[in-house]
Amino acid sequence: MSLSVWYDLSLFLLLFALFVYVFVTVTITDMRKVYLLFHFLMMLWPLCQFATGVTRDGHLQLLYVTLSFVALSMLGSGWLLLTAFLTGNASKLGRKRLLLLSIPAVVAAVGVVMNPFSLFVKPLEGGYIHREYGPWFWVVIVILLCYFFASLSFLFRAFHSCRTILTIKKQVKITLWGIFVLATFALTDLLLNVVLREWLPIVPGLTSAGIFISGLFFVYVIKRYNVLDIVSIAHEDVINTIPYGIMVVDENESIIEVNKALRLFVDVNVGDYFDMEKFLGSVRIVGSSRRFLDHYKYKHNILSQIEIIVEQDTLSHFILQASPIVDSYRMQIGRILMFQDISQERYLVKELNRQNEILRERNHSLDSIRNELSIANQKLKEMALTDSLTNCYNRHYLTEQLTQQIKADIQERTPFSLILFDVDFFKAINDRFGHVIGDEVLYRTAQTVKQALRSTDILIRYGGEEFIIYFPDTDHRLAEQLAEQVRLLVETTHILVGHEKEPVSVTLSVGGLSVENFDIDHIPDNLEGYVMGLLSEADKALYQAKSNGRNRIEFAEYQK
Ligand code: GH3
Ligand code: MG
Ligand code: MG
Repeated sequence: MSLSVWYDLSLFLLLFALFVYVFVTVTITDMRKVYLLFHFLMMLWPLCQFATGVTRDGHLQLLYVTLSFVALSMLGSGWLLLTAFLTGNASKLGRKRLLLLSIPAVVAAVGVVMNPFSLFVKPLEGGYIHREYGPWFWVVIVILLCYFFASLSFLFRAFHSCRTILTIKKQVKITLWGIFVLATFALTDLLLNVVLREWLPIVPGLTSAGIFISGLFFVYVIKRYNVLDIVSIAHEDVINTIPYGIMVVDENESIIEVNKALRLFVDVNVGDYFDMEKFLGSVRIVGSSRRFLDHYKYKHNILSQIEIIVEQDTLSHFILQASPIVDSYRMQIGRILMFQDISQERYLVKELNRQNEILRERNHSLDSIRNELSIANQKLKEMALTDSLTNCYNRHYLTEQLTQQIKADIQERTPFSLILFDVDFFKAINDRFGHVIGDEVLYRTAQTVKQALRSTDILIRYGGEEFIIYFPDTDHRLAEQLAEQVRLLVETTHILVGHEKEPVSVTLSVGGLSVENFDIDHIPDNLEGYVMGLLSEADKALYQAKSNGRNRIEFAEYQK
């Protein structure tokens, strides 16, 4: 043999190594790799059969026979892998399982290569064009049949499973035909050319023809259903990994596709009839379903949505959205139903409302505490300004409130009057009845005075048995009348106190003063001093009343 032959062979081997390098390192989908490997193995069989036939060299014939059977041994595992991919079972095959599955194929191939004691093949007539197969050949056939049945079971299971989507079912059906053709041709080859070899004429090329025809089936599937199309694969992946439940129904409401997320909570399968009305009857609906169903049934080209609650272990909220699929003539040919899980959002809203409710209740109780506090404060304030014996205002009231009232009167130039009265001979009452009865007389006198007052008049205990009355919006003439009313009522009121049989009656001496002609331009700086000045004038008048015989009224000539 010339050296150039080896040169060409080594070039072939180098090119083959480059192909393997690119095949392994370039990023293409596993599915594509599996298919290329499978196709390569299919090509090897007829090539090697041809090569065996054209050479007279026995060694080369053995080499080609060995190579074709190595390819045939590996073809079984290739088949299995391809069917796993076609039926969507590839993800279940991990690396370990893949390795385990390829062991029988590798063992068969090793036996073929070693051909120990010619257990695989023996030459006939000094060459391998006609050959006799040994027991290892049958081992290879049995292993091949095992792969064949394993992949058939994959395909049948996928074909009959209601969980397989329609397009995959169609793929599987065509693949099944391909495998059936290949099996028929290979078994006929086996029967005619191996088992019945001695009695029947050799029919060459049967397995090669089977491989070719089944190859046509596989290529048709790959092209027709875009099996190797990365967009379709990605589309399938996206549909199944998207967190929304997705269902596609055709114009007859028959389910064409259901993704994994939807199957978690709705028990539907491809091929089932989907009755929307019945489905809505089986779940809880937020609001009314009438509008949604109207749109769903009659207004086909409108996107409609509804919120539903599905009861599983917990309550799950979904937005169910139905959108039409229309063809180029705007005719509806199906619908996409999308189920978006909004349980988390609903939970958060509910929680927010609950927290708001708690806050509102807290605010409410804070409000009532604040109210109670303000009432208590008001009471405390009143207590601080009220005399405990007579229930009239006390001196604090005089300094804190009345001075402000007088300031306002001056600002608004509203006339007002003040009277100061003192109980006559009160010491004598104390002396006669004792201090306790004296207190009671003082209290009852104050109540009597109040009866003679208008609601706007203010009675203040100035100290001891001396009181002040403030008459708002009251000029001198009216003040005199009011003071007289007070004096008269007290004089004519007989008070029954303690166990005394005789009623007690007291009289008052009154000193008054009216401020009505405002010729002062500004508010006095020392307001308290001003008020004290007024009271001092009233006191002088009171003194006058005492001096003039008591039980009478004197008004100061105070005009400022
Ligand atoms: P007059 O005013 O008419 O001159 O004679 P009077 O006896 O009332 O004299 P004065 O006003 O000076 O005396 C007031 C007396 O009132 C002195 C005190 O014992 C008595 N008194 C003052 N405050 C109280 C009190 O809160 N309770 C009792 N029981 N007596 C009081
Ligand atoms: Mg007095
Ligand atoms: Mg007195």
